[in-house]
Amino acid sequence: MQLKSILNFVQPHQGFVYGAVHQRNKGQRTVLDIEIRPRKNRQPVCSRCGKPGPGYDTLPVRRFEFVPLWGIAVFFLYAMRRVSCPSCGVKVEQVPWATGKNHLTTTYAWFLARWARRLSWKEVGQVFQTSWDNVFRSVKMAVAWGLAHRDLDTITAIGIDEIAWKKGHKYLTLVYQIDAGCKRLLWVGKERTQKTLRQFFKEFGKERTAHLRFICSDMWKPYLRIVAEVAGQAMHILDRFHVMTHFGKAVDKVRATEARELKAKGQEPVLTGSRWCLLKRPEHLTEKQSIKLNELLAINLKTVRAYLLKEEFQFFWRYATAGWAARFLDAWCKRTMRSRITPMKKIAKMLRSHRELLLNWFRTKGQVALGAVEGFNNKAKVTSRKAYGFRNFEVMKIALYHTLGNLPEPEATHRFC
Ligand SMILES: [Zn+2]
Repeated sequence: MQLKSILNFVQPHQGFVYGAVHQRNKGQRTVLDIEIRPRKNRQPVCSRCGKPGPGYDTLPVRRFEFVPLWGIAVFFLYAMRRVSCPSCGVKVEQVPWATGKNHLTTTYAWFLARWARRLSWKEVGQVFQTSWDNVFRSVKMAVAWGLAHRDLDTITAIGIDEIAWKKGHKYLTLVYQIDAGCKRLLWVGKERTQKTLRQFFKEFGKERTAHLRFICSDMWKPYLRIVAEVAGQAMHILDRFHVMTHFGKAVDKVRATEARELKAKGQEPVLTGSRWCLLKRPEHLTEKQSIKLNELLAINLKTVRAYLLKEEFQFFWRYATAGWAARFLDAWCKRTMRSRITPMKKIAKMLRSHRELLLNWFRTKGQVALGAVEGFNNKAKVTSRKAYGFRNFEVMKIALYHTLGNLPEPEATHRFC
């Protein structure tokens, strides 16, 4: 079997044929140069209007990088023709393997973009001996194509989330589709203000917004307000992940304050090294942490009482019906209000004022992938961390769409990876 037969199998080009193949060395690397020429009597196609026209002249040979073969870099060599197009004038021809001034073939760009979903962009560059810029441009192309070709018409449930970026000083608002059968990132916006979320709904469109049945979010006022204003017909749900995040923060606050108080009174530093025992779920503790937790529970500290209130609240999510969950919620809030622990009382007040939205959690069971928001939040954080060095919003946005957007890809003759 010849190389040309393999090429015709993986990447046939209508109107063009593969010619001679040359091997050369470029530094430490072996390179294959594969000539391409137009079929005889086949007119060039105008890159502006897509219609064939008479040839005008031929430009110097250009190189287009293709998918490497057995660790050997592969280049297509082709002298672009110019078309004397009756409607557009003299234009460079359109070729099926690359677009515009790109020196990467489209197939190679998709190849890099696919790997960039599994490895960091830097790693992809290292493995395939190409620049970070080439990897970035490939991912950008894949995302642009995917966004232009995705279907947004059957969405009934969305989740609104935020992540911190730029060392925690700034926020991004992320909107996910969380239908039971389809979960993906839909939108990324700067900040977490009313304006941000309003922009999402504007781009999403009135008609699609009217079809939304469930919207899940944190108890963040700007989000609550916009959802009520723009999509009042949808059931608004507060999700478990965000609610429990508030608990974690409150317990941590109680612990820090109490540790300071104990130290000031010159008492034994029982709370030292206790942070993670109190924040983690009991089943995730190491043995050492479990022992520490048991020691703590034996002492009557505010921190311990706050911790027990938090753990007790986990039962809330296990109820099968909104009615029983409501009874539990009311009893829990009543007890917590008497606890004399300010951060926990704040939570009880917050839960009381959002009682109905909390109970909606039980009214949507099975219809919405409510756990999805937490999964996406973790993945988005990993992406933003991996994207260390992504200084601007555009790059961050592309990275998030690429990893979480579940974007479509064009049909290809051959799948290279
Ligand atoms: Zn034309």
